[in-house]
Amino acid sequence: MSLPEVLRGIRQAEQVAGRPEGSARLVAVTKGQSFEAIERCVLAHGDFPLGEGRAQELRDKSALHPDQDWHFIGSLQRNKVKYLRHVSLVHSIEAPWQAQAIAQAAQSWGRAPDVLLQVHNGEAQKHGLEASELSGALREVQATGLTVRGLMLMAPDLDDLPTPEREGQLRSLFADTARRAHDLGLAELSMGMSGDYPLAVAAGATLVRVGRSLFT
Ligand SMILES: *Cc1c(COP(=O)(O)O)cnc(C)c1O
Repeated sequence: MSLPEVLRGIRQAEQVAGRPEGSARLVAVTKGQSFEAIERCVLAHGDFPLGEGRAQELRDKSALHPDQDWHFIGSLQRNKVKYLRHVSLVHSIEAPWQAQAIAQAAQSWGRAPDVLLQVHNGEAQKHGLEASELSGALREVQATGLTVRGLMLMAPDLDDLPTPEREGQLRSLFADTARRAHDLGLAELSMGMSGDYPLAVAAGATLVRVGRSLFT
């Protein structure tokens, strides 16, 4: 696969779902990739936001290339907030303290990133906010002054399931997340990765985070 093929897949899924062309945007996930590979496999095809999941790696790459549109998609520890200086969107707010720390650091940056709230995906491993916590967390994050644009979901690994079952579970998880965003009045929906982005676009994803498929 390559970036143009992934884009074609996104466009096709938009069309099938009756969505306007370009309503689902690609975020190129570049964690673990050298900037040389990013130029060759991503930027050669156009300007795309670059999604990094490890804070130190983001710090190093974005310091050298501050003019790229950097997104942070990983889990955020307090002592790493300072590395988000060049980021325009944080996809992965899991607790209001993270937004408070970003808002505070942003005072010295002169700009603040927008944020998405990460939704828990039902897996045993605890990442993201429970459905019952969402509206309270939204209010607390908004109170920091940061702009909350939407929700983010990282789908669980269901690769052991037979395809129809796996797709059924993903569809319902994506649909639940879309409904939650709608109920909260949030427009952006960050969901879908290399293995499942057509299903995510079908369910209304506006930001699709694809990594591996761009670089193989
Ligand atoms: C790595 C990563 C992706 C991209 O996954 P691929 O399978 O490489 O497409 C998307 N979202 C998050 C949060 C990631 O960490």
